[in-house]
Amino acid sequence: MVTTHNLGFPRIGKNRELKFALEKCWKGEISEQTLLDTADSLRLQHWQDQAQLDWVPAGDFSLYDHVLDTSFLLGNIPERVSALTGSELDSYFRVARGRSAADKSACSCVHAGEMTKWFDTNYHYIVPEFARDTKFSLNAGRLLEQIRQVQHIRPRVKPVILGPVTYLWLGKSKDGSEKLDLLDDLLAVYAQLLDVLKNAGVEWVQIDEPVLVMELSEPWKHALRAAYFQLQAAPVKLLLTTYFGQLQDNLQLACELPVAGLHLDAVSAPDEVAKVIDWLPSHKILSLGVVSGRNIWKTDLTAVLDWLQPVHMRLQDRLWLAPSCSLLHVPVDLESEQKLDTDIRSWLAFAVQKLEEINILAKALNHGRASVAALLRENQAAITSRKQSRHVHQVEVKGRLQEITDAMGERRSPYQQRATVQRNRFHLPLFPTTTIGSFPQTQQIRQARRDFRAGQLAEADYRRAMRKEIELCVREQEALGLDVLVHGEPERNDMVEYFGEHLDGFAFTEFGWVQSYGSRCFKPPVIYGDVSHPQAITTEWIEYAQSLTKKPMKGMLTGPVTMLNWSFVRDDQPRSETCLQLALAIRDEVLALEQAGIRMIQIDEAALREGLPLRKPQWNDYLNWAIRAFRITANGVRDETQIHTHMCYSEFNDIIQAIAHMDADVITIETSRSDMELLDAFDQFQYPNEIGPGVYDIHSPNIPSVDSIIQLMQKAAQRIPPERLWVNPDCGLKTRNWDEVKPALSNMIAASRQLAGRLDAA
Ligand code: GLN
Ligand code: ZN
Repeated sequence: MVTTHNLGFPRIGKNRELKFALEKCWKGEISEQTLLDTADSLRLQHWQDQAQLDWVPAGDFSLYDHVLDTSFLLGNIPERVSALTGSELDSYFRVARGRSAADKSACSCVHAGEMTKWFDTNYHYIVPEFARDTKFSLNAGRLLEQIRQVQHIRPRVKPVILGPVTYLWLGKSKDGSEKLDLLDDLLAVYAQLLDVLKNAGVEWVQIDEPVLVMELSEPWKHALRAAYFQLQAAPVKLLLTTYFGQLQDNLQLACELPVAGLHLDAVSAPDEVAKVIDWLPSHKILSLGVVSGRNIWKTDLTAVLDWLQPVHMRLQDRLWLAPSCSLLHVPVDLESEQKLDTDIRSWLAFAVQKLEEINILAKALNHGRASVAALLRENQAAITSRKQSRHVHQVEVKGRLQEITDAMGERRSPYQQRATVQRNRFHLPLFPTTTIGSFPQTQQIRQARRDFRAGQLAEADYRRAMRKEIELCVREQEALGLDVLVHGEPERNDMVEYFGEHLDGFAFTEFGWVQSYGSRCFKPPVIYGDVSHPQAITTEWIEYAQSLTKKPMKGMLTGPVTMLNWSFVRDDQPRSETCLQLALAIRDEVLALEQAGIRMIQIDEAALREGLPLRKPQWNDYLNWAIRAFRITANGVRDETQIHTHMCYSEFNDIIQAIAHMDADVITIETSRSDMELLDAFDQFQYPNEIGPGVYDIHSPNIPSVDSIIQLMQKAAQRIPPERLWVNPDCGLKTRNWDEVKPALSNMIAASRQLAGRLDAA
């Protein structure tokens, strides 16, 4: 018999119950106990949602982040927090957010744990902190409680824990000490934990080591061997779990570690299944992740069964089935989507439906396909409908893709020549000032957008409201004295969603929320079909804004790579192809803006870096098609049209060549918090075009002083010739308020003028 299980269920709740409870608790509107009660009932609900599985996970739930939970489980709590009094939950939220529940006073804040992306997903975890003298001690109370809760209703509970090597890998050494030196101490606590779990009646433990899909140096491989040789004495069975990629050169290692079972992400690594079966000792079970935990498409069950059946023949009872990874990365339940186009809806599967797919597959293997014939037929009908749908396949789009030429990605002249033409056209001062696009989004703006969507505000009134806001924005920018203006983006809720809504090939869910970090959720658009651009999207707003001023108005667009990386992407063609379709669509918009007389156009690529594959040897391939897509989007314009791009992160060292190859006339980047150090990459590479290093940290309410901005810019000028420097904030201003933005920009402008004056005098 095939055994079914799940690696993890979304925590946030299908109506984002956890988010709302957390935020209320933080505001002091509900007690900690009420929050914990909500968490209890969510877990119960989720266990019911997984009722058909042979094994349900426990410990996959988290109030904020499972890596932070692991730090608490192992007693690795930063000193700045453990020294404070208060409940454990209090300390937990302090590490997560810099303040405890219901603590509104600024004075008792500690700095929050650093946050970073969980592998190549859009989920962010709190980075564990290590130092030479880090001590671990077991603190399994919360995990045991969750296990006990579910044991009442389900005897077969499989706790999920993060493995010791991945835990160390994900963390950061605060004092330069070697993280692996902590392994022995850490293993002692893991051994204790496994004993405690045994005593709680646990048989199987899922131990996640996704680090096995990364490039590992010898010491890390050795750490894995050392860890699992030591933990093999544990009185429970370990299911060593990997996901998000191929094992490649770690395959043999993964197969040989002395555990009772291995989970392989068969969606990312279908070609490794046969090899793993060959290598895996015959006493081990093999869990195959055959349903994608990363996208929202139905699985082609018949196709999976076709290749799974021989595997089952070989492995028999040793075969387990699961989603490829935790379902954390997909929305909860498709049942909630009642407004979605019925065809599109029939092609989708969210967490609950994905588990249903696992059940169908298991039944088909255990009792023959006839036992689930109707379900398989239904599934097949959906797969065929999607393959053949005229919603999905647009002959014209495919035709345009065929006609793409390299010339479409080339500017007419090299940067030097364009720069002269542009200088003569714009007559900008030295250190020109601009912003990244959005201005503060007031409650009124958001309300107007919501009312318009809900049909409660007539289109004409909505447009009037947006124009009024644009006018206000332009007036403020003129009064401040910025050199290059923007319209302020009041009509946009989100930089990807806004464009997606105006393009063909995108669908939007109502409840398709995915946790991004803590209480923050994101509702990725769904790219289901060939993407096209039926009509100009932004020209109306930008032209209007330009009509209000003589200064250059910068048109504002989201780039193709960011559109792709922040959406659920179709799986029936390579990502690179979908990206090219997006590129053509946004290119149309670029050309429409140029046609409308807009002289500067910014194409944001906030998520370009995020799309980098986990393994470095695959970076080139990604960068090649991603940068090509950007070039096709941007480079069809005349020499005198100035292309800007914007990226809000700070690691460029390893991708600077690709960035330069985008050939944008101006790039604005986030730098204020890194003290301009990141410009070293641009300096060493001798980045040829113009750069606007951010001088205003828009994540903070602080207003940068004129002096601090001058200092930052002077540092920048040591690295980049001043004629090629711009002065701007790190990112858009939509989350700030006008009272902060006005003085900050005013200081920025004063700083730019002083710098330009000094340079003139010199
Ligand atoms: N133009 C966008 C804005 O200003 C850019 C946002 C981003 O980079 N994340 O809001
Ligand atoms: Zn940004």
